[in-house]
Amino acid sequence: MIDTDVLIVGLGPVGATLANLLGLQGFRVLAVERDTTVYPLPRAAHFDAEIMRVWQGLGILNEAMAVSRRAPAYEFRNAKGEVLLRYDLDEVIVASGFAPAWMFNQPDLERALRSKLVDYPSVETRIGVRFEGFEPTDGDAVLATITDATRKPEAVKARYVVGCDGASSAVRKALNIAHFDYDFDEPWLVIDAQVKRPEAVPTLNLQICDPKRPTTCVLMGPGRHRWEFMIRPGEDPQHFLEDRTIAELLTPWVREGDVVIDRKAVYRFHGLVAKEWRRGRVILAGDAAHQTPPFAGQGMCSGIRDAVNIAWKLGHVLRGEARDTLLDTYQSEREPHVRAVTETAIAMGRVVCTADPEAAAQRDAFMLAERAKGATPVPPAEPKPGPGVFMPTFPAAAIFPQGTVDEARLDDVLGRGAWLIARRATDIAGIKNRHIARIESLDSAALTPFAKKLDALLKNYDGDAVLVRPDRYVFGAGASHALSTAYSAAVQT
Ligand SMILES: Cc1cc2nc3c(=O)[nH]c(=O)nc-3n(C[C@H](O)[C@H](O)[C@H](O)COP(=O)(O)OP(=O)(O)OC[C@H]3O[C@@H](n4cnc5c(N)ncnc54)[C@H](O)[C@@H]3O)c2cc1C
Repeated sequence: MIDTDVLIVGLGPVGATLANLLGLQGFRVLAVERDTTVYPLPRAAHFDAEIMRVWQGLGILNEAMAVSRRAPAYEFRNAKGEVLLRYDLDEVIVASGFAPAWMFNQPDLERALRSKLVDYPSVETRIGVRFEGFEPTDGDAVLATITDATRKPEAVKARYVVGCDGASSAVRKALNIAHFDYDFDEPWLVIDAQVKRPEAVPTLNLQICDPKRPTTCVLMGPGRHRWEFMIRPGEDPQHFLEDRTIAELLTPWVREGDVVIDRKAVYRFHGLVAKEWRRGRVILAGDAAHQTPPFAGQGMCSGIRDAVNIAWKLGHVLRGEARDTLLDTYQSEREPHVRAVTETAIAMGRVVCTADPEAAAQRDAFMLAERAKGATPVPPAEPKPGPGVFMPTFPAAAIFPQGTVDEARLDDVLGRGAWLIARRATDIAGIKNRHIARIESLDSAALTPFAKKLDALLKNYDGDAVLVRPDRYVFGAGASHALSTAYSAAVQT
C-alpha cells in the first residue's frame, strides 16, 4: 500500500498547481493522472494578474511570461462593427503587481507546471494512472484505489484526497455530490489557430454581438489566435467541425494561408457549482467543484484560487498547527467568489449570445447610448472571498498589493507564508507566532525599499500594521499584537 500525506487526483492546471504548492511545503504527495498526454483540445486562453502572481510564487514566472502576452483591450461590437463597449487594459497594472489580462495557450502552461514538479522530491506523479474509488476507513485516513494501464488495483492511504479531476470528476461522483445548476446551456464551436501572417489577425480581444452568429475572437499565447462561434438552436454541432464549415466561418477574418487550424471542438458552456466542496478528508477543487461559461475567462483562474486556498490551510492542518475545521473555510471563502465570477460570465454570455434580432437591436441601442455618454467603462469589480479567516472590517479580504521597486517584487523579498508588516520595530517587539512566516517593520533591511509605498498603504488601512495571509489576501489591519493573536485564533478555529 502507498502511504502519502495528500493524494491529488488529476494533474490538470489545478492539480498541478496544488502539487507544486504542497511540494514547496515538503509534504508527501502522490498525484495521479489518467491521461498520458496533456489535454489537447482548446480550453483556457486567458488568466488574470492574481494568477500570474501565483506562477511567480511557484517560481515559473519566466516560463509563464514566455508563453503568454498582455491583452491590450477588449471590445464588444455589434453586427455593423460599431463599438458597444471597450475596456482599455494596456497601461494598467493591478494590485497583484501585473497587467490585468494575459492571453495564453493552456497546454503550454500545464507543461510548465508539471515540469516544475521535478524540483520536489516529496512529490510523486504517476501518469496513465486512474483513481477508481474509495474503500471504507476508520476516519484517520482515506483509502483509495488506483489502477494503471494493466488495470491492476493498488491501494493508497492518504491523510487527505483532493479531487482535481475536472468536470466529470470521479471523486465527486464517488461521494455522490450534486450540483447547483445556473441553467445556462449554450453550444459553441471553438477553433485555435497558429498565425502565419500576424498582420492578418486582430490585435485586441473581440466579442462580435451579431445575432446571426455571435462570435468571439481573441489573442492566445505568442503566434496563436482563437475564434469561437455560437451554434444556433436547430443547427447540427457536428456540421461545425467540418473543415468546409470552418473555412466559411473564417472567411470574414482571414485569407487562405494566414492561419493554420490546429485544434477544434464543440463545447456546451454552462454554469454549475457542487453543493459540497469537502466531505471529511476529501476535498474538491477546480472544475470538479464548479464550472463557468468562458465569457469572463475565469474557469481555470477560479480553480487556481481554490488550489492556493487549500494549500496553505492544509499545510497548517498537516503540520498540526490547526484543527481540520480550518478546511471548512475553504468553501465558505471560495464559493461566493466563484458564484460572483460565474454570474458575471453568464451575464456577459447573455449579452453576447442574444440571437433574437429585435432584442439585439434594443441591446445595441442601449449600449451605444451608454457609450455616447462618454464614461470610461471599468471591468466588473474583483469579487471578494466569503467569510472565513478574515477580520470583519476593512481592509480584510482585499488583495494585498504587490509593490515593485527597481524590478524587485515584494513577494520575492518576503517569501511564502503569512506576513505581519508593522510601521515600527517597537510595534512587533516580542511577537512570536508559528502561523506567521515573516514579521517585519518598515525600517527592516528587507522592507526599506518598499517603505514609502507600504507606509501609504498602512495610512489608507488606518492601522499600524497589516496581516497578510499566505494567499496574499489581507486578514486585517490594526495593532500588531492584536492582529497576531486574532490571526492565530482564526486559523485554529
Ligand atoms: C472553450 C473553453 C475556453 C476556456 N477559457 C478559459 C479561459 O480563458 N480562462 C480560464 O481561466 N478558464 C477557461 N476555461 C476553463 C478551463 O479550461 C478549466 O476551468 C480548467 O481546465 C479546469 O482545470 P482542472 O485542473 O480543474 O480540470 P481539467 O483541466 O479538466 O483537469 C482534470 C484532470 O483530471 C484527470 N482525470 C479525470 N479523471 C481522472 C481519474 N479518475 N483519475 C486520474 N485522473 C483523472 C483528467 O485527465 C485531467 O487531466 C475554458 C474552458 C473551455 C472549454
